[in-house]
Amino acid sequence: MTEKAAQSSESDAGDRERHPLAMETLVSLCASRGFVYPASEIYGGIAGFWDYGPLGVELKNNLKARWWSRVVRERDDVVGIDSAIISHPRTWEASGHVEHFSDPMVDCRTCKRRFRADQIEGERCPEAPRQRAVVDCDLTEAREFNLMLRTELGASVDESTAAYLRPETCQPIFSGFKRVRESARQKVPFGIAQIGKAFRNEITPRNFTFRSREFEQAEMEFFCHPSEREQWFEHWRDERHRFHLELGVDPSLLRIRPHAEDELAHYARAADDIEFLFPFGWQEIEGIHDRGDWDLSRHTEYSGKELAITDEQSKERFTPMVIETSVGVDRTTLALLVAAHHEEEVGEGDKIETRTVMKLHPAIAPIKAAVLPLSKKLAEPAKAIQQDLRRHFNTFYDDAGNIGRRYRRQDEVGTPYCVTFDFESEGDGCVTIRDRDTMHQERIPTEGLARYLRDRLEEEL
Ligand code: ATP
Repeated sequence: MTEKAAQSSESDAGDRERHPLAMETLVSLCASRGFVYPASEIYGGIAGFWDYGPLGVELKNNLKARWWSRVVRERDDVVGIDSAIISHPRTWEASGHVEHFSDPMVDCRTCKRRFRADQIEGERCPEAPRQRAVVDCDLTEAREFNLMLRTELGASVDESTAAYLRPETCQPIFSGFKRVRESARQKVPFGIAQIGKAFRNEITPRNFTFRSREFEQAEMEFFCHPSEREQWFEHWRDERHRFHLELGVDPSLLRIRPHAEDELAHYARAADDIEFLFPFGWQEIEGIHDRGDWDLSRHTEYSGKELAITDEQSKERFTPMVIETSVGVDRTTLALLVAAHHEEEVGEGDKIETRTVMKLHPAIAPIKAAVLPLSKKLAEPAKAIQQDLRRHFNTFYDDAGNIGRRYRRQDEVGTPYCVTFDFESEGDGCVTIRDRDTMHQERIPTEGLARYLRDRLEEEL
């Protein structure tokens, strides 16, 4: 990100004030409820790495499944792949990463901390007395710092070769373009998509999972004729914007920010960021890029393998243009958690209390329904109900504590429905369904419960 963009998105204090949620509240809820917590926590953590717990993994898997369905499965013109994380080192020379994938960094001569030169404005040094402003520290000149993580391949040090953990998932899509096009019998225009891990040696990982060193991307590269690039750019930008809106994100928390001329990569014709209003300001969660024919041309040049194609009808020979959509799975997960977090006053008179509720869209909620017997004595029939429901979607069984507390625990992790089995249930064959958002309760027959819940969940998809 350029300095200009960093300033425009990170300094919008007015918008930040609109945000009621403090990040510490969310970070602590995520750790205590098992969404996300620091990797290697018992060793004090390792900066820029995070582990997803039992609820976090369900949430992230649901998001990835939704993306895969919208971008790949529901379309005729996009196919998926799952490539190796390590590519031939020439890949990263061709892509320009060896030469250009760097951020300017400065070191503090006193505390030896390292900062991104374009992000020190307004930053405070955590080491310095009274957290002095970083700009007032004794800083070195800015130097370029390559963000790719290196590793060695091969058993002996002498013969080992340097390789890189991929900093983005798209390059194997370009190097595999010919193979995938031919094996999938696809014709331009068409796209190739993949979801996977990416690694960047970020100088200052921060803002929880927002800027991590290991993260996941979901990327789609769409190959088209040069005359159609504008039309496909707009198509994909609108599709991707709709994707986030359909997950229930309040439209006022999303915006599309076109890149200014001086922000564009030298090969790019256009780029729009989809930004989300985090508690720390407007920030990119997804980029839509018109990459031109840069990638296929460069891989042709570096591999010596021709990647241009011939149009069957017109016999025109051309290198396809690429429209890319690149979304961070972790950043989007974080945005969805921020957007879903609500604190509400409930109750009446002197019984008013605050309930924390994660209003996660049912499609991504980690648990779809919790089964709660009113008493441990009702375990057997209640477990039979859960047994039936779990064949259809993710469920949770909880018989500990009073029912109000159990409802609150499910609210906090975003479970759309609670199914309560009480002392009348065995007699009348009915259970009580409680809706997370309205807290409305209704009594419905146990027979056909799975179908009833599935219909309600699907209604909201
Ligand atoms: P930024 O300017 O914030 O570093 P970027 O412009 O370098 O991001 P891209 O290279 O376009 O990001 O990557 C596409 C997407 O991958 C981003 O929109 C973001 O969601 C995600 N992403 C990039 N870097 C990180 C990171 N360090 N941690 C988590 N997600 C990331």
